[in-house]
Amino acid sequence: MKIICIGRNYTDHIKELENEKPTDPVVFLKPDTSILLKGQPFFIPEFSQDVHHEVEVLVKINRIGKHIQPKFAHKYYDQIGLGIDFTARDLQAKLKAKGLPWEKAKGFDGAAVVGKWLPKESLPHVDDLTFSLTKNGETVQSGSSSLMLWKIDELIAYVSQFFTLKIGDIIFTGTPAGVGPVAINDNLVGTLEGQELFSIKVK
Ligand code: ZN
Repeated sequence: MKIICIGRNYTDHIKELENEKPTDPVVFLKPDTSILLKGQPFFIPEFSQDVHHEVEVLVKINRIGKHIQPKFAHKYYDQIGLGIDFTARDLQAKLKAKGLPWEKAKGFDGAAVVGKWLPKESLPHVDDLTFSLTKNGETVQSGSSSLMLWKIDELIAYVSQFFTLKIGDIIFTGTPAGVGPVAINDNLVGTLEGQELFSIKVK
């Protein structure tokens, strides 16, 4: 399986990192080895002094597809989740400055937190989901999928022009504002529509 990530999908987060608003979605991949194993703590990698949390709505693909039209995209997923796109911000900044790919800053072991999955039918409309991340009990990020520049169905249509989507692939749909550093002993809890979908200890 593959993990397809979308960058700069919320205006407030684009401002936060002083990025330009894109004309197309920003797309990058994480390897399957980046998934944090269930029940394991997240270990801050040695090569970074500034790992940030990015809480994101996740979509799990359940049908193979290519060149999917937006109006049919809803048929390609039936589970929604929440996760963290951990980012070594210091390394990413260096790579961005040189115009180099970001993978080392976003694809390292443990950099993809994938929480519990919820059936799509159990949720309100996918374009109106509220979610948040708390760090040590304090809310650090909160967002709504209604504020995405590209909605879930548009993202599926867009990325399937480039990559065949396969059963089990996961799409990270981008982060709202409030990204920030994590430190050893932090506890990160992600909630979607009032349901806690992950709880992670940082080591
Ligand atoms: Zn992200």
